[in-house]
Amino acid sequence: MAKALVLNVAIDVITMNEALQQIKLFIAMRQPRLIATANAEMVMLAQSDKQLADILAAADMVLPDGAGVVWAARYTGQPMPERVAGYDLVQRLLAEAVVHGYRLYFFGGAPGVADKAKEVAQKRYPGVQVVGTRHGYFSAADEPAIIADIKAARPDILLVALGVPKQEKWLAAHLNELQVPVAIGVGGTFDVMAGLVPRAPVWMQKIGLEWLFRLLCQPSRFGRMLALPRFVLCVMSSKKG
Ligand code: UDP
Repeated sequence: MAKALVLNVAIDVITMNEALQQIKLFIAMRQPRLIATANAEMVMLAQSDKQLADILAAADMVLPDGAGVVWAARYTGQPMPERVAGYDLVQRLLAEAVVHGYRLYFFGGAPGVADKAKEVAQKRYPGVQVVGTRHGYFSAADEPAIIADIKAARPDILLVALGVPKQEKWLAAHLNELQVPVAIGVGGTFDVMAGLVPRAPVWMQKIGLEWLFRLLCQPSRFGRMLALPRFVLCVMSSKKG
């Protein structure tokens, strides 16, 4: 699979449909796989967090989740067909899960959020099998029980929403033990599905302004969103250099 390098993070050059095909193949192969959904914030974190950078380098897929990474790849002369947003990928996977009988497990978010997201999924995609949920606030002592619960549920797809980089690190540490064919770090996806956080209108997504919408809805994100202008500057100077 072709990769584009964005500030030394290798991102798959892939469309939404190709990503779905690949995930179906991973499920059929039944080896544990880690999928990350990369946006500008994640790429910036990976500059200073070597553990995250190594996890992304070893990941089975790193999807171009944000408008920023799509821009950066193209700006530096590398092809990138489209954005593959984690939230949209999850919706497509839920639809596929109904057709193919895939089992999903939702792990993460505040207490009640994964349950609400499951309810919404079952309404939107009747017949979908969400075989387990667990909120994302836990201590090290809780982990064996969480892992045992996920293993007992035997999901084909594990969605993990603990925020970046916690979800990637947790998955990298436990993926082999979990023996789940496809595990994806999905950030705020359950929050959006549960209706806690609205999704940006499509026209804003299309012109690459989803970040602005999220900032307006959740002003507390301001600090971490400073990563965006830093990302743009780093990409521009990396091209010159
Ligand atoms: N979260 C969690 N456990 C934690 C920290 C965060 O379950 O210890 C959840 C949080 O409730 C939210 C998600 O992780 O649902 C992170 O969402 P965010 O929008 O910050 O995702 P990101 O932008 O990091 O992908």
